[in-house]
Amino acid sequence: MNPLDLGWLSGNKERVITCTKCGEKNSDTTLCCTKCKNKLQSSRKVVTVDDPSGRPLDTFEHKGVSADAWKTLMRMVEAWCYLLALAGVAAGCFYFEKWWPMYPAVGVLGLLIWLRRV
Ligand SMILES: [Zn+2]
Repeated sequence: MNPLDLGWLSGNKERVITCTKCGEKNSDTTLCCTKCKNKLQSSRKVVTVDDPSGRPLDTFEHKGVSADAWKTLMRMVEAWCYLLALAGVAAGCFYFEKWWPMYPAVGVLGLLIWLRRV
């Protein structure tokens, strides 16, 4: 690197935008291409959106959240199934006025819930 070439420090060599239409190099401050009048601002915005530093993280976070929500939903559905089964056994016991089936039902359901949590 030429130590005398410090033009980029004083602003002689400013940032350039390459025109997407004709390939002409324009100054960063120019809004339209000096050659074909193509809008340069819009092409710069596209580059910002496609910035790879922010995008993959966004996608990853989104995936993690939705997977967690799905797990929570499945667990809730499962819990409701156990409760409904228990309610069904209780209703049957009430109908037949025999309460002994409640003990194994509660035991089996308790064992199921305990196994699912492990
Ligand atoms: Zn152009």
